[in-house]
Amino acid sequence: MPKSNLSAIAISSAPVAECDTSIDPDAAQNHGKPGGTVFAGENELLAIRKWLEHDHSMSTSWLVVRALVDESLKKVSRSGDLRRFTDAELRDAAGVDEFEWRNVRTWWMKRRDDARTFLRSENQDGVLLDMERFPGGGRGITASTGIVVRKPEGALADQREDEEEDAGASGPVRYAPRNADSIRLSGPWRRWLFSAGEIEVGSTRHALLRWRVMTPAIFILLLSVVFFVDLVLRNRPIETQNLAYLLGIVVIGKFWWQEWRPIYHARLDRITALPEEWLTDDELPTQLERKRTRSGEVLRLVRYQAACPICGADVHLGEGVPSDPRRVLGRCIDAPREHVFTFDPVSHDGRHVRNERPGVS
Ligand SMILES: [Zn+2]
Repeated sequence: MPKSNLSAIAISSAPVAECDTSIDPDAAQNHGKPGGTVFAGENELLAIRKWLEHDHSMSTSWLVVRALVDESLKKVSRSGDLRRFTDAELRDAAGVDEFEWRNVRTWWMKRRDDARTFLRSENQDGVLLDMERFPGGGRGITASTGIVVRKPEGALADQREDEEEDAGASGPVRYAPRNADSIRLSGPWRRWLFSAGEIEVGSTRHALLRWRVMTPAIFILLLSVVFFVDLVLRNRPIETQNLAYLLGIVVIGKFWWQEWRPIYHARLDRITALPEEWLTDDELPTQLERKRTRSGEVLRLVRYQAACPICGADVHLGEGVPSDPRRVLGRCIDAPREHVFTFDPVSHDGRHVRNERPGVS
């Protein structure tokens, strides 16, 4: 058993060449695989791939981990240093714009036990796969990440304790705007009005938006006036027919309000979550923000996103329903009712709603 190798893993800054435990000079110790197996965790990698599909998520960290597993599988017969990928390589393979390794690590640490249980159910209990970060250094060497095979027990206990403590810490959330250019609204009117991503308040487009909002409102108002005038002029008891007419007005009014309330709320609250009716089916949660810019005030589409400090998945902004519908709150896509965070539209940071009151942790 090459103890020196295992202890080298526990220190993540260990020399690169010593970090891969998949090649064991002693065939009997080669994680149950024939001696000389380059990477002893292929079956476990395939099982991890299955686990990822089983727990499918569109979270950035999930996409990065899947890319890491896929890329490792492609190079499974190569030596360890060829199975390490820089952040740029992982970003391209995962098809994400950017990611922070710290968030991916939190994501993995929180789910590692679950992955291990799955591996056990797939009869792949012999070894533990883990992600290893190989730090960069001088001379343009960038940090890279690889999957290594580890024995589940022994030298890793200490490291694990540290990592879990780290991963469990729930710090502040930092939101950042993401991919606003790619937002696609539903319906030809909305898509055209917001085709530039924003509407300048006072512009022709803004006037058209107001016209589009106000026309149905005036129509609903006229219907109501007609209803009451008719009631007064005829001076007869209210009939079922009248009630049906009134109900019709209420329903149309409700639809109108549902559709256009974001315009009103963005004006009062500065930012509001767009209802699903505004978005195409595959669109991620999006917000409408009223913002003062150098050229004037604009109504613009934004998509603020953060990484969940608890589990590393993506946090998106949505309505604060049911308790506080007008509020915009950040919800983790993997635990939307538990990992809930505030959103400060000025500083763009937030904290867990349970820790909201100052001095309470
Ligand atoms: Zn979370």
